[in-house]
Amino acid sequence: IKNTNPFKKLNDEIFVYVAKKQKEIDELKRLEQFRREFLADVSHELKTPIFAAQGFIHTLIDGAVDDEHVRDKFLSKAAKSLDGLDALVKDLVALSQLETGEVKMNFERVDLAHITEEIFEQLEKVTSAKHTSLRLRTTNPGPVWVKADAQRIKQVMTNLIENAVKYGNENGRVLVSLEEEKKHILVSVRDDGPGIPPEHLSRIFERFYRVEKSRSKDRGGTGLGLAIVKHILNAHKAKITVMSKLEKGTTFRFKLDKMD
Ligand code: ADP
Repeated sequence: IKNTNPFKKLNDEIFVYVAKKQKEIDELKRLEQFRREFLADVSHELKTPIFAAQGFIHTLIDGAVDDEHVRDKFLSKAAKSLDGLDALVKDLVALSQLETGEVKMNFERVDLAHITEEIFEQLEKVTSAKHTSLRLRTTNPGPVWVKADAQRIKQVMTNLIENAVKYGNENGRVLVSLEEEKKHILVSVRDDGPGIPPEHLSRIFERFYRVEKSRSKDRGGTGLGLAIVKHILNAHKAKITVMSKLEKGTTFRFKLDKMD
């Protein structure tokens, strides 16, 4: 039977229109929720180092200045809190620029082996204090060329290697390997540290997510390192994976486009 209802077409159009608007409203609600949670997280994270620094400085003003030893201890604690605040603000700016897509990636031919060696040198102080051994393994000797944003991919490698050292054991070993595949370079950063409990694994890339809050903060972490890593790699169309075994260690892996 032929449908002769003259309003059917209009009805269908209204239905499609309402469904579209509903989708837009849902998206706006989601963004608003995200913005609210982000603001709450950020103010919470900012408060911690500010309160700590305030506390030390007020105690000094209130009289602890007389004892030279106490004074130095409090001053260095206040400075440490402010350094943490500085790192946090820098990471926040980087992350928010990445999240809003404000930054344009500058893709070029980059030598990943050279970048890794540079990072090893920059981490010299931390690794020698902890007696961590850093090793780079490549398929062939010499440069390993990939298509990447040099500065940002260095940030990715730095965050992963720093974490491996920071959360790894004393006398631990960190292995960065750059394996040549047909079209890609498979990058992996492996440590033999305590590992990450399986129930936390899927969440470590979320901003401010830390497995052990106090331990991570003690080690100067902002809780944003892996969120930044994930965003930068997204912009390189690369997916990062993590594998971890308790008491055995953790491995992060991703692939970048190879360049000749
Ligand atoms: P943070 O600034 O706290 O280091 P990240 O985003 O870099 O923040 O890492 C998130 C959390 O993941 C860390 O707090 C730590 O608990 C865990 N983590 C990251 N890398 C490792 C690793 N190599 N071994 C063990 N735990 C790790």
